[in-house]
Amino acid sequence: MEKITENQIVNLAHKVMAECALEIPVSKWAHRFHDLQVVHMKAKYGEATATGIVRISSLFVGTSAWKKLEQTLRHEFAHLAVGTDQHHNSRFKQCQSRFRGDKPVPQSEIEEIASNNRYKWQVIAHLEDGTTFDVGGVHRKTKRYSAYHEQPECKKRDWLTTVNKRVVRYEFQPN
Ligand SMILES: [Zn+2]
Repeated sequence: MEKITENQIVNLAHKVMAECALEIPVSKWAHRFHDLQVVHMKAKYGEATATGIVRISSLFVGTSAWKKLEQTLRHEFAHLAVGTDQHHNSRFKQCQSRFRGDKPVPQSEIEEIASNNRYKWQVIAHLEDGTTFDVGGVHRKTKRYSAYHEQPECKKRDWLTTVNKRVVRYEFQPN
């Protein structure tokens, strides 16, 4: 099955949003949908804010957990429709059901998302212009990154071709 990309999350969000709006007109929603963000979240699949922002965990990216993604979007849109202050009360659950966000998803999808989170550390590159870049996950603190800043300045520094910048140092962030 096709793997999920960030763009596809955004596209699916707008498709699902249109379907939910047929169920309950947007004019009756507590919060209007303003923006969809794909962010690094390990403990949650998604979240919705009273300012109309829906955030989806980047752990979906690279998996084929399409049903879980759709369920999460429908769940978050229900939060926008009834108001985030309603939390998971009966009004919310009723709305979630109308948005068809309570359908069960295969356990295999849950496992695929969980295995996407298997790396112990995330390697963050600190770049010469003061910005950072997520290099990816690693299982242990390898010398390749941990001893990088100790090498003499005259030695060739890593060049990150994806952003065209030089790496000053690497940092391990626990996942
Ligand atoms: Zn919720």
